Amino acid sequence: MINIMKGTKDLLPQESYKWDKIESEIRYVARIFNLHKIATPTFEHTELFLRGVGDTTDIVNKEMYTFEDKGGRSVTLKPEGTAGVVRSYIENGLSQLPQPLKMYYETPVFRYERPQAGRLREHHQFGVEIYGADSPQQDVEVMMIARSLFARLGITSPELRINSIGCPTCRRAYNDALKAYFASKADDLCPTCRERLDKNALRILDCKEEKCAAIAAGAPSVLDYLCDECRTHHEGVKNLLDKAGIPYVVDDKIVRGLDYYTKTVFEFVVTNIGAKATVCGGGRYNNLVEQIGGKPCPAVGFGMGIERLVLTMQAVGASFGEEPAPDVFLANIGAADDAFLLTQDLRAEGVAAECDVMGRSLKSQMKLADKLAAKFTVVLGESELAAGKVKVKKMTDGTEEEIPLSDLARYINDKKKG
Ligand code: ATP
Ligand code: MG
Repeated sequence: MINIMKGTKDLLPQESYKWDKIESEIRYVARIFNLHKIATPTFEHTELFLRGVGDTTDIVNKEMYTFEDKGGRSVTLKPEGTAGVVRSYIENGLSQLPQPLKMYYETPVFRYERPQAGRLREHHQFGVEIYGADSPQQDVEVMMIARSLFARLGITSPELRINSIGCPTCRRAYNDALKAYFASKADDLCPTCRERLDKNALRILDCKEEKCAAIAAGAPSVLDYLCDECRTHHEGVKNLLDKAGIPYVVDDKIVRGLDYYTKTVFEFVVTNIGAKATVCGGGRYNNLVEQIGGKPCPAVGFGMGIERLVLTMQAVGASFGEEPAPDVFLANIGAADDAFLLTQDLRAEGVAAECDVMGRSLKSQMKLADKLAAKFTVVLGESELAAGKVKVKKMTDGTEEEIPLSDLARYINDKKKG
């Protein structure tokens, strides 16, 4: 017996309707916000992520699935969704399309992490990527997209936490201040953070070790170091959130786990799935397109974990909609082929129809119809075929109506409409 790999999960047929619900709400939200889908490959040149995600991040240092392919190239399974979209934006000249270019993706994401509840080695993300606009409105619209999806899914609880991590100009002074602060506490930091001290002190703020988090709580605030442009932008975002009546908390310790952010960063956090968990993380990355080789282009987006969405929906008792069931089950007595062909005719008319293809007895066909939760059942035998009429039984109350075979599709379709 070969088992599933650690940190990965099967999506089983009896559960998949939950994902269908989320995906259909994603499509709804995408449509009302005018987002267009983009899909990029599951693997890319490793170099893309080294340059894009940043070589001092946990993702690049510890978590990437990197291997050499048979042609000797270094290949990496995508550890996040943005870098591939940036590459595609540049490679396909997407700056020629009307800007801002508003895109979304759904993708598997691979990270070699220590598996635990809500933390997998392969998970899936819904992400939004908007290129070309640098306004606070664009940041707030991105947050509104996430909020709309939460609302559609019946998740009312997430707390929006925002911060600004400035731009390379203001971050230089901040970085010096952080370094000085953490250097004075170096002995109490975890070994990884001691390394981060030299390479990228900002990363220490993202450490999940308790003692590091406690030290980080007393660190200088990035908000005190913002340049005029970044401060104006941050104030603009807060003002617009206020005007829109969207509650938020400013948390000056949010930096996010990716190096590419500038100005706005934000998270949506829930407490329903055990420890405080981030279901959505995002922000602005105005230098990323240029960093990956394109012309400078402001951009903003987020990534949302689908598995954590499912966990949150389950925890708050949100509805996943009805489990899909056939509209009608066509049982047969000695008329398997006729039932089979009639089932196809019904499907051609848009009826979700099912029949037996395993030679079951009538009794076990009816049991099956019950298990499948078919809304109606029909029994087709010699006499029904001869008369061209069938009895249609409504399963919820057992009532029956006699309907001409030629009228069956219309009858079921009408009843479906209610
Ligand atoms: P965390 O702080 O939980 O490690 P992150 O900062 O690594 O999250 P992002 O890289 O911003 O998260 O990813 C966006 C979203 O993807 C997260 O908010 C979360 O919902 C989800 N996510 C991230 N890593 C995992 C994982 N290993 N397993 C399941 N979902 C994940
Ligand atoms: Mg992480």
